[in-house]
Amino acid sequence: MITSLPSPSEAVKKAVNTIQISVVVPFLNEQDVLPVCYAKLKGILGGLAQPYEIVFVDDGSTDNSVELVAALIRRDPTVRVVRLSRNFGKEAAMSAGLAHARGEAVIMLDADLQDPPELIPDMVRAWRDGFDIVSMRRRKREGEGAAKRLSAYAFYRILSRMSRSRIPADTGDFRLMSRRTVEALLQMPERCRYMRGLYSWIGFPTKVIDYDRAPRAAGKTKWNYFALFGLALEGITSFSTAPLRWATGIGAVVALAGATFGFWIIFKTLMFGDDVPGYPSLMAMITLLSGIQLLTIGLLGEYVGKGYLESKQRPVFVVRDVLDYATETHSHYAPFREKNAVEG
Ligand code: UDP
Ligand code: MG
Repeated sequence: MITSLPSPSEAVKKAVNTIQISVVVPFLNEQDVLPVCYAKLKGILGGLAQPYEIVFVDDGSTDNSVELVAALIRRDPTVRVVRLSRNFGKEAAMSAGLAHARGEAVIMLDADLQDPPELIPDMVRAWRDGFDIVSMRRRKREGEGAAKRLSAYAFYRILSRMSRSRIPADTGDFRLMSRRTVEALLQMPERCRYMRGLYSWIGFPTKVIDYDRAPRAAGKTKWNYFALFGLALEGITSFSTAPLRWATGIGAVVALAGATFGFWIIFKTLMFGDDVPGYPSLMAMITLLSGIQLLTIGLLGEYVGKGYLESKQRPVFVVRDVLDYATETHSHYAPFREKNAVEG
């Protein structure tokens, strides 16, 4: 009977108001690791003796991941599942998780256990000591090829050279953020979100903890080299206009060289007569210069395109629905799908 159902709202409401720690786990097709991840998180969060919640963000998974986590909400009131309407990418999924997390501190964690949940107690301790951001720095990257390690190394160093806010090297998305940090992040209006840059842009007292990055527990990485290159370009163009200045610099140098060469040719013609050798050098100059031109036009296009994307003011993500213990119980009265269908 409907009337005999226990009313969850009071108990759930009370729990919601006192949530201290939210763990946000964005995932895309992680059916192999999600159960392990959940079990580990439960064990560690339970040991903290503080009210917590686990916010899973489904970034448009097409495997059984959603069924796995949706099955959890029926027996575990600490679990919420935010389902996005399609795959928006990890950066957007993290934003969705931050928007739905209700704790006083929010911890961002990969589903594949590369970010060891065992470190959560240390992070919480640092937060209790007064740090707003506890960011985790990788000491080494196990199970990742030499090429990936080298490109990651180079990228972080180039980026921190170029941007004005210090983006610390080798810190990823694995971090704890206080409530006011999260609110500040959520105020950032940009659509092209390079989270690692945003974290450092907002400032606040930050503590860095070193850890060893474990290999993926199971499943496959979602990043190929194209995607990583895209992320790197995104990071650089979001946080620095230095490449545009380089383009101007290169242009100036090349133009100067061209002018000097021109004067040299005039001089030579006047002194030694009209001789026109040098087809190869002409070709070399033309290809070099048109290469530089195309490169800088493409570079300019990156920034123009970014301006275009931002100007459209589209939301960063669209939520399909939010599943948790309360909505599941309420759905005996009214389908939660309808209630949450247009959120976001
Ligand atoms: N992920 C996501 N949306 C995406 C790609 C990845 O939510 O479009 C999640 C993924 O499920 C994992 C985390 O982001 O929980 C990190 O992804 P992955 O392990 O593939 O990246 P890597 O650790 O290799 O950098
Ligand atoms: Mg991973």
